[in-house]
Amino acid sequence: MIWDREMETLDRSRLRELQRTRLAWTFDWARERVPFYRGRLPQMAHLDTHAEEVLRELPFTKKSDLRDNYPLGLLAVPKEQVRRFHASSGTRGKPTVVAYTQNDLDNWAEVVARSLAAAGMRPGQTLQNAYGYGLFTGGLGLHAGAERLGVAVIPASGGQTDRQVQMIMDLEPDGLSCTPSYALFVAETMEKMGIDPADTSLKTGIFGAEPWSDGLRKRLEEALHIQAVDIYGLSEITGPGVAIECVDGKNGLHVFEDFFYVEVINPNTLEPVAPGEVGELVLTTLTKEAMPMIRYRTGDLVSVNPEPCVCGRTSVRISRIHGRSDDMLIVHGVNVFPSEIERVLLSHPAVSGHYQLVWEGTPARRDLVVELESRALTEEMGHQLESQLSRSLGVKLGLRVVAEGTVPRSQGKAVRVIDRVGQ
Ligand SMILES: [Zn+2]
Repeated sequence: MIWDREMETLDRSRLRELQRTRLAWTFDWARERVPFYRGRLPQMAHLDTHAEEVLRELPFTKKSDLRDNYPLGLLAVPKEQVRRFHASSGTRGKPTVVAYTQNDLDNWAEVVARSLAAAGMRPGQTLQNAYGYGLFTGGLGLHAGAERLGVAVIPASGGQTDRQVQMIMDLEPDGLSCTPSYALFVAETMEKMGIDPADTSLKTGIFGAEPWSDGLRKRLEEALHIQAVDIYGLSEITGPGVAIECVDGKNGLHVFEDFFYVEVINPNTLEPVAPGEVGELVLTTLTKEAMPMIRYRTGDLVSVNPEPCVCGRTSVRISRIHGRSDDMLIVHGVNVFPSEIERVLLSHPAVSGHYQLVWEGTPARRDLVVELESRALTEEMGHQLESQLSRSLGVKLGLRVVAEGTVPRSQGKAVRVIDRVGQ
C-alpha cells in the first residue's frame, strides 16, 4: 500500500521542481531566523531556479555545530511555537537538543505513516512499538505515525521483555517496531517462555536505529515468521521515517524526498560520489520550521540508487547503512566496519545473532576478537568462518564461541564493541 500515492510516485522532474522551491524556502527561513546560518547563506533573487547549485556551494553542518549551539542556538522560531523537544544521549560530551513546531510534528507523522505502509502495515492493524519512549525519537515518532495511518499502537517502549511477549500473545499485534537486536531478544524470550516465535500474530517487523545486515534480517524473518524491513532516521533531521525499505523490493531504503534532500559525499574530499558508490549521507530538510538543517553530515555511510523500484515509488533509495564513519574500527591498521563483520558472520547458518566484538591484548597491540554464541558451530566451521572473515575484511580477527547467554541482550541499541585491553 502506498499511503500518499500522489507524492510518493511523483514524476521525478516535478519532484525536483518541488525540491528547488522548498530548498529556496529553507534558505530564506534559516537566513532570516538563525544567526548561525545568516553568514553562510547568500541572499539572491530567483533562488529557486538554481537552489541546488547554491546548495552545493554551502558549508556543511555537523553534529559539533549542534553541540556548540547547545541547547537552542539553532532554533528558528520563538520558543512559544515549539511543541516538542527531543535530545540525543550525548555519549561524547554534551547532548544535542532538537525541536519541532506543530507543522514539523505533522510532517514527521506523515513520513512515518508512509513508512509503516511501505513496510506492509494497513489501517485497522495493531503495532507493538518497543522503541524507547522519551527523549529518544524512536518511541513517540513511530507512535504518531502509526496513529496517522490508522493503526492501533501498543506503546510498550523498551524493556520488560516478558511483558512485551505477554502483550503480543494477548493483544495480537500485526507489527513490531524496535531495534533488530531487541527483536532477536524478544524471539529468544518467547522460546524460553515456551512459545513458538513463528506462531504469533506478528506479520511485519519495522527495525532500525542500529545498522544491521541481510543475514540478521533472514534470522529474524525465519524466527518470527515475519517480513522485516529497515527504517532509517536521525533526530537532527526529524527522527525515524526519513527513509524506509518497501516490503515489495526490500532492496534499499526510499527517502521521502519531498521532505529531505539527499547528497552522498566522499567524507575525505567532500566531493559528491557517483550513484552506487559508498559515501557519507548528507541531508537537508525541506520543510522543517523549528530547526532547519542545511547539508547535515549524518556520519552514516551509504550508496544511492536512483533506479526505479518495483513498488512504484519514484524516490531514490539509499543502501542499508554500511556503518557510521565514527563506528569504524582500525584493526592492525585496516579499516573495519562492524556491519561488515556481521554480514560475514550471519551469512553462516550456524551463527546466531548474538555476538560481540572484543578488543583484547595490550595498548601496543590491540586484537579484535569476535565472541559469538552458537550451539551448532563445530571447530572446523569455526576455522572456516575465521578465514572467511580474514578474506572479506583484509585483516585477521580472532573468533571464540562462548556459552549461551554470555553476550548481553540489548534492550535498545546493542553495544557491539567491548574494550578489554590491558585487563
Ligand atoms: Zn520500493
